[in-house]
Amino acid sequence: MIESNDETRRAKCPICRIKVEFRDEGNNTFPFCSDRCQMHDLGNWINEAYTLPIDQNSTERKLVEDFAKNLES
Ligand SMILES: [Zn+2]
Repeated sequence: MIESNDETRRAKCPICRIKVEFRDEGNNTFPFCSDRCQMHDLGNWINEAYTLPIDQNSTERKLVEDFAKNLES
């Protein structure tokens, strides 16, 4: 009997909570199930950044806005 010892290679997608298996071949979205969920997480991060009291004219705000625009396009 072969014991399956691959629990460390599994995770739950932080966004949609489905089980994700780590794959060696270029699974660079891990622990997300897909690039879509990875982008969703990034979107959450940007929304949080927007809630920070940033000066309207600051470079930080401009950087965040540019970043969001690039994601949308
Ligand atoms: Zn997901």
